[in-house]
Amino acid sequence: MTAAIAAARQGAQVTILERNDRIGKKILATGNGKCNLSNLDFQTEYYRSEDPERVGTIIKADAVRQAQLFFEQIGLMIKSRNGYLYPECEQASAVLDVLRHELTHLNVRVVCDEEVVTVKKRAGDGFALETKSGRKYIFDRVILSCGTSAGLKKGTKTDLPKSVASIYGLDYVKQVPALVQLRCEEDFCKALAGVRCQAGVTLRVGNDTYREDGELQLTDYGISGIPVFQLSRFASYGLLREQKLPVEIDFLPSLKEKEWEEFLRARRQTLDYKSMEDFLIGMVHKKIAGVLLKQCGIRPAETAGCVNDSQYAKLSRLMKHFPMTVTGTNPIENSQVLAGGIKLTEVSENMELIKCKGLYLTGELLDADGRCGGYNLQWAWSTGITAGIAAGNRRALF
Ligand SMILES: Cc1cc2nc3c(=O)[nH]c(=O)nc-3n(C[C@H](O)[C@H](O)[C@H](O)COP(=O)(O)OP(=O)(O)OC[C@H]3O[C@@H](n4cnc5c(N)ncnc54)[C@H](O)[C@@H]3O)c2cc1C
Repeated sequence: MTAAIAAARQGAQVTILERNDRIGKKILATGNGKCNLSNLDFQTEYYRSEDPERVGTIIKADAVRQAQLFFEQIGLMIKSRNGYLYPECEQASAVLDVLRHELTHLNVRVVCDEEVVTVKKRAGDGFALETKSGRKYIFDRVILSCGTSAGLKKGTKTDLPKSVASIYGLDYVKQVPALVQLRCEEDFCKALAGVRCQAGVTLRVGNDTYREDGELQLTDYGISGIPVFQLSRFASYGLLREQKLPVEIDFLPSLKEKEWEEFLRARRQTLDYKSMEDFLIGMVHKKIAGVLLKQCGIRPAETAGCVNDSQYAKLSRLMKHFPMTVTGTNPIENSQVLAGGIKLTEVSENMELIKCKGLYLTGELLDADGRCGGYNLQWAWSTGITAGIAAGNRRALF
């Protein structure tokens, strides 16, 4: 939609072919229905790709300002919540509405229930598109913005980018779920289900270690929450090579290891009359305390003064380095994005395919996935605007 608007503003006649019965459905699900459309804290390092240096040549430092202006100009009021940008009314539908209204204003033709199956370069000029319904469309230029199947109903495939990659001989990075929950093998997951707490989560994949801090959610199948989402793309790729990946939870991220040991020692001296269950009150969630004590072989009713040094040492270590084992991610339909896609080295700075002039790629189908926080939509808006300006420019091709 941003590509279509930008192209139409250049004077091009634009048609959107959309396989759904309406355009922009995914936007409605974003940011829990509020649409976290971008973020004032913008760094190209927040995107992951096999070609990270290409990200910065495609999306520039002023991208957020450009997107803000774009939306303000089409009538959206935007607010910042700690840098996270949302529509003022906190309704994702407002973002979709202003985009749709602008498309109408610019006479962009929107054809829904029209699934494109191939995009072929014609012998002469332009491209021939075939759709599932059997119709053929001829266009001078084509912008492919079909995203991925992340977050869509089970079995919904978005195969067009792969087919385009094979037609034009493009390098493609395997797509895996990202911004998704992680499944763990431990039996105690069921006992911890429902717990939310501030934690540090460290994932090890081969020789690489990744740590994220934030609100952890423990579920009956494993772990979720923002820090887990941020790590999940590394887990997804790691799980292609290894069956299991170690993850470590720091239940006391605000205390350094030494501070924590000193704190525990002092508490042991002053509260030695308490049961261990009571001793841990206020430090960690009760359900976590139960699992920790069990793993240390300490009975909850045991008096703190009677617990031996090695049990304390184990408890102390577990609070900061609680091990779990990741065996999988939740499926694509639960993920917010897919990592991987058509390699960034296949497109020029204006999103045009280097191997096929006149064909442009935008958004999530490319090999760049952002962190949680509005970065994926920002990528979609920015690459769309860039492609639209370039494709809509009459002098660009001929
Ligand atoms: C639950 C959820 C929450 C999210 N929340 C956020 C958030 O708050 N902030 C953020 O930055 N990102 C968020 N994202 C990610 C973000 O929505 C996507 O990265 C972004 O929408 C990708 O934009 P896109 O234009 O590449 O693709 P899409 O938005 O997926 O649009 C692609 C369009 O192409 C259509 N299409 C696909 N194949 C064909 C075909 N063959 N023919 C015709 N049409 C086709 C699709 O139906 C779709 O309408 C979220 C994602 C999900 C699933």
